[in-house]
Amino acid sequence: MPEPINKPMRVLIVGGGTAGWMTAAGLSKLLPANYADIQLVESQQIGTVGVGEATVPHIRFFNAKLGIDENDFMRKTKATFKLGIEFCDWSRLGDSYIHPFGEYGKDIDSVPFHQHWLRAQQEGFAEKLESYSLPIIAAREDKFSFPSMDISSPLSTFSYAYQFDAGLYAQYLRKFSEELGVKRTEGKIIDTQLNSENGFVNSVTLEDGSVLEADLFIDCSGFRGLLIEQALKTGYDDWTKWLPCDRAFAVPCETNGPLTPYSTATAKDAGWIWRIPLQHRVGNGHVYSSAFTNDDQALNALVNQLESAPQTEPKKLFFKTGIRKKTWSKNVVSIGLSAGFLEPLESTSIMLIQVAIGYLLDMFPDKNFDPVNETEFNRVLGLEYERVRDFLILHYHATERDDTEFWNYCRNMQVPDSLAYRMQLFKESGVVSHYKEGAFLDASWYAVFFGQNIYPQNYDPRADKVSRDVLEKHMALLSNANRQSASNMPLHSLTLQDVNANKIINHAVAGIPGHAR
Ligand SMILES: Cc1cc2nc3c(=O)[nH]c(=O)nc-3n(C[C@H](O)[C@H](O)[C@H](O)COP(=O)(O)OP(=O)(O)OC[C@H]3O[C@@H](n4cnc5c(N)ncnc54)[C@H](O)[C@@H]3O)c2cc1C
Repeated sequence: MPEPINKPMRVLIVGGGTAGWMTAAGLSKLLPANYADIQLVESQQIGTVGVGEATVPHIRFFNAKLGIDENDFMRKTKATFKLGIEFCDWSRLGDSYIHPFGEYGKDIDSVPFHQHWLRAQQEGFAEKLESYSLPIIAAREDKFSFPSMDISSPLSTFSYAYQFDAGLYAQYLRKFSEELGVKRTEGKIIDTQLNSENGFVNSVTLEDGSVLEADLFIDCSGFRGLLIEQALKTGYDDWTKWLPCDRAFAVPCETNGPLTPYSTATAKDAGWIWRIPLQHRVGNGHVYSSAFTNDDQALNALVNQLESAPQTEPKKLFFKTGIRKKTWSKNVVSIGLSAGFLEPLESTSIMLIQVAIGYLLDMFPDKNFDPVNETEFNRVLGLEYERVRDFLILHYHATERDDTEFWNYCRNMQVPDSLAYRMQLFKESGVVSHYKEGAFLDASWYAVFFGQNIYPQNYDPRADKVSRDVLEKHMALLSNANRQSASNMPLHSLTLQDVNANKIINHAVAGIPGHAR
């Protein structure tokens, strides 16, 4: 990392939601001491978006890099464990599949397991795909125990994430960051001053008249994009035509159902409803398209299916799916909702915050602001967003539902070329093409392709090199081992009791490494 000219670099983070405090925590912990002087300004009067409870496994590796104790974090954020997401009614009414944080079987003779499963299906000795995934079997039984580092154990075949109270997580990271020297200012920004020569942001002015200057500004101001959009007018690529949901109602209720180690996303007439169990409550929300339903209908659909009485008034949220034309422009880097938004179907927003912090650290500028850092950051973060976007669109587009206008639209819409290519390749040969950027690995794509009833025309002919007898035995052993391992696992609720009693050692980075970078 180059020495910043006249170090330390003055960094001002604008916003104290999940994005702001994750950025403050990441930079203050991971930059060398005295490299940057980090300040954060936030306005309690404006508040935060107040949603965002489900995550993907990447977050464990973020917390681990910060040196956070997992038990302490879980207790303080009222977190539960998450083995995947259950999707109900997406491809057909009555369907249910789980996208697990883990693998289906293992390659045999370098041929991916799902190719052998496709052959076994054709030859009539395959169980359903779920049987070959331990996290799915465990999730269906409300079981949870930690993954193992022993690669010979079925327990090494999965990873896990958390479902937590994001407001408590931001508070947790605030304390963490302040202890590392981040200076917090309470106040509302009412004006931004630009350098008249190069258009860089020089400073922001607060309501009380005070002025905060910095070299690098990190815009974590939420949907409004105070610096990246309102000051620098960067522009926005709107992806609503592919992801037509643009509103949500969110409301918590008391737990009255099982403490599931997974979130649920149930497709509705013009969107979908989430259920996210935390230790102290259940988060619920209805994400919907205002072009295909109205607010009253959406609210009723949500409230009528709650497992207990709502704990607060439902909160209404508006959003537009897409990304800023530049997430880094001049001396402003946007992270979180100010950078772009992908609806929460696969719980990816917090992961995208984490990924952006990682790229910012990789390409941390000095006071010269060489544009190459900006260019590369925009390129790679853009790819991360586009690939999550494609993964989300697949859930909507790969449907046989024709019971509402919304589903007819989604089924018939033209998808981005990048997704059309992936779908065609999978249908043709069962292959998921690899890429470096992009959060979701092959197993996730298999889960959603098969879950949404997209099947390859044929299996890889190399699968036939294994004798039927050997394959049949192998597959039976695998599904038995998974069933046995799941039945030996404690209930999710019991593992949580042990975590809360501090009886469990920190497992934060066990599990398959492929699920985080
Ligand atoms: C319906 C919905 C469901 C979601 N579910 C999930 C989920 O399950 N999982 C997930 O990963 N993500 C989810 N998200 C996304 C997640 O909520 C956000 O990514 C996350 O909370 C980060 O938000 P943020 O910090 O960027 O913005 P915010 O929380 O909006 O924070 C903005 C900050 O900027 C400050 N600010 C703004 N203007 C000013 C000003 N003028 N002066 C001073 N300060 C200012 C505010 O006070 C606040 O501190 C969901 C989002 C929505 C809309």
